[in-house]
Amino acid sequence: MMDFQNITIAGSGVLGSQIAYQTAFKGFGVYVYDISAEAIEQAKERISGLKARYQKDLGATEQEVNEAYHRISFSDDLGQAVANADLVIEAIPEVVSIKKDFYQKLGKLAPEKTVFATNSSTLLPSQFAEATGRPEKFLALHFANEIWKNNTAEVMKHPGTDEKVFQDVIAFAEAIGMVALPLHKEQPGYILNSLLVPLLEAAQMLLVKGVADPETIDKTWRIATGAPAGPFQILDVVGINTAYNISLAKAEATGDELYKKIADLLKTEYIDKGKLGKETGEGLLQI
Ligand code: NAD
Repeated sequence: MMDFQNITIAGSGVLGSQIAYQTAFKGFGVYVYDISAEAIEQAKERISGLKARYQKDLGATEQEVNEAYHRISFSDDLGQAVANADLVIEAIPEVVSIKKDFYQKLGKLAPEKTVFATNSSTLLPSQFAEATGRPEKFLALHFANEIWKNNTAEVMKHPGTDEKVFQDVIAFAEAIGMVALPLHKEQPGYILNSLLVPLLEAAQMLLVKGVADPETIDKTWRIATGAPAGPFQILDVVGINTAYNISLAKAEATGDELYKKIADLLKTEYIDKGKLGKETGEGLLQI
């Protein structure tokens, strides 16, 4: 049986604030840790701002959203924030040196019982397992943005993760209203991006090779598979800036001309013309 009760969230930015509030909303005691008094003030504002989203999107009452907020404590002292923690969920910047340094400090300050989980999107838990000082109690727990609606939790082991810890974190993810998705092995990009990134890349390659236009490519995917959205609709939600950055990085890493062509096309035909995707009302498609 999973006996996590006190949960500490380290890093209270976009994702950390959502994980903290969702966890409190489901009745757990939550401590939020961030690096400075200023960051803590921002965390309070950001988390308070989620109350209205829970009322609008989930029909939560004013009493429920206020009670959830009051289950959260805040501190910029890591030792204090983790003194009673059963589980620490780390959502700090996606920078190897920052995370490594954080885990080295955390490993020394947290009680022996505490399990650590990283919400990293692109880094693998094995990169930090040794730095934690407790590799068997460490794994990845990856949420999607807007977790109260997009409630997937990819739970991923590294080779040293203890099986009971893995099962406990799966049970915890379910207890906070997530659909837990177990990954028994490390996989860059988890399940979702392992599937989605190749699809989005293939669609963009068809476009730059001049095979078909975005509308036709999307229509093919939707009608033939029954999927509600095609790859270009998805790219417009992700945002053209992000798509551009990914293609540019791939072009540099692989030297493949097609990635360079995609990056050039996204820059000249879309970004430079202010067509950034759904947020601007126009992207690869007219929205
Ligand atoms: P963010 O930049 O919004 O927030 C990062 C937070 O960490 C800030 O509050 C910052 O003050 C704090 N911080 C910086 N250094 C710190 C340190 N040494 N110790 C503790 N806190 C520190 O970032 P984000 O978008 O919330 O991403 C955080 C993590 O979550 C990343 O690993 C990212 O890959 C992952 N993630 C992000 C998303 C997303 O859509 N934004 C989705 C899934 C996973």
